[in-house]
Amino acid sequence: MMGSMSAEVVICGAGIAGIAAAYSLSINGHKDILLLDSGSPLALTSDKSTEAYRNWWRDEALLALMNRSIDLMQDLAEKHNNIFRLNRRGYLYATADAAKISDFRSTAQRTCEIGAGPLRIHRQAESSHYQPAAPENINDQLSGCDLILNSQMIKFQFPYLSSATVAVLHARRCGWFSGHQLGILLYELALEHGVRFMNAEVVEITTQGNRVQEVVVRQDNAQSRIRTSVFVNAAGPRLQKVSALLGHSLPIFFERHLKLSFRDTLGIIPRDAPLLIWDDAQVLNWTEEEQTLLAGEEDMRVLLGLLAPGAHLRSEGGPDSENIILLWPYDTEPVAPEFPMPIAQVFPEIALRGMVTMVPGLKAYVNNMPKPFVDGGYYVKTPGNRMLCGPLPVEGAFVLGALSGYGLMAACAAGELLEAHIAGATLPPYAAAFVPARFDDPTYLDNIKSWGPSSQL
Ligand SMILES: Cc1cc2nc3c(=O)[nH]c(=O)nc-3n(C[C@H](O)[C@H](O)[C@H](O)COP(=O)(O)OP(=O)(O)OC[C@H]3O[C@@H](n4cnc5c(N)ncnc54)[C@H](O)[C@@H]3O)c2cc1C
Repeated sequence: MMGSMSAEVVICGAGIAGIAAAYSLSINGHKDILLLDSGSPLALTSDKSTEAYRNWWRDEALLALMNRSIDLMQDLAEKHNNIFRLNRRGYLYATADAAKISDFRSTAQRTCEIGAGPLRIHRQAESSHYQPAAPENINDQLSGCDLILNSQMIKFQFPYLSSATVAVLHARRCGWFSGHQLGILLYELALEHGVRFMNAEVVEITTQGNRVQEVVVRQDNAQSRIRTSVFVNAAGPRLQKVSALLGHSLPIFFERHLKLSFRDTLGIIPRDAPLLIWDDAQVLNWTEEEQTLLAGEEDMRVLLGLLAPGAHLRSEGGPDSENIILLWPYDTEPVAPEFPMPIAQVFPEIALRGMVTMVPGLKAYVNNMPKPFVDGGYYVKTPGNRMLCGPLPVEGAFVLGALSGYGLMAACAAGELLEAHIAGATLPPYAAAFVPARFDDPTYLDNIKSWGPSSQL
């Protein structure tokens, strides 16, 4: 049976991107917005995140976007009694490689210059004015970064780090929050402002004269046609599939990212610690027997070699919780998304061993890990790692996606930016960096080939 209805704006996908778009449109006076999802809101990728945020980016456009998004998150936190528990503990990048100190210094200098805030370098313990972050308070906190190059001081401030650590960079306008609570808050505010939600799958989009005309959705076994002039593709890992309904292909690829959590029953990680990141590539320490086992399996052999930098962890939950979350994106080969997502059995052990290098106390869990929980999702990425936000070649069609590993932290500013595109309003200076049409520019395509690693987490 085929029903028929209409909406001014149809948004496909109620992950954090679609919800943030619906929220921004609704608070800016747009009426008759229909938010569609084939599953439950926030349940595909947006509830799998580490829920961390940072204004620490080498890419100026991403840095400006995140600064705006953090401003918006702070406003929301203030207005809504910080219901999504935004904190400001910072990201602590550490290295044991003395040769990397000059890299740390130049990265810190440049990132601060392009908008992260002031740089404070601490060389001597006695004369230093390093201020630790407040565990929960988000007001009157430092921004920019503290670069600590004195091992005595590193040991004093972060006694749980490996004694081999020679430098730490504490980026300050960073921390974490409950992504689910933020999503639910934006969703509820959007509904209060008149947005309708429908549990249905977008299966067809019809156009007339290169203009969006109708969206066909399937709900149970029935199909409905929705007349609309504005369609937003916010389908997360299904972005390409939905784009194909418009006869258009997007420049994206997918990476699988896993995350481990378990109870730190021995209290190795202080509950007020910042997010900890080991910035060195590393070779794991395997016994001879383990080496033979790994060498015998083709897809495991990689674990014997040099593995990527970026193992990281943070504590999770309130003061009574013992949970910690560990991640290590050591395998980021592009994949085709499949659901449910396959989970490598070996991941908990690898993530833990990666973090033992940074926090040796965690070794106590290597053969004795409290019941681990592993989940994960797909990073949807463009070459260059900048999201897609703006109009598509079909008139009335827009995209908000390819939010990589930063969708939760970027959502507020990304939703706001999409609204400005749809309204034809004045765009912020960073807008051009995210429009899909940049991929039609051969100079841009040439430029991104020379961009270095995106320092994603
Ligand atoms: C392990 C991991 C750690 C991460 N850590 C962080 C972090 O610390 N900080 C951070 O900011 N970000 C992080 N991210 C990234 C963040 O989670 C994503 O960028 C974000 O969730 C993407 O949101 P989305 O709305 O684009 O996609 P999704 O959340 O996947 O939402 C897309 C929605 O579209 C719906 N949909 C798809 N096709 C259709 C259709 N045809 N019809 C109807 N509905 C459809 C889906 O059901 C889904 O609900 C992490 C991600 C992972 C996997």
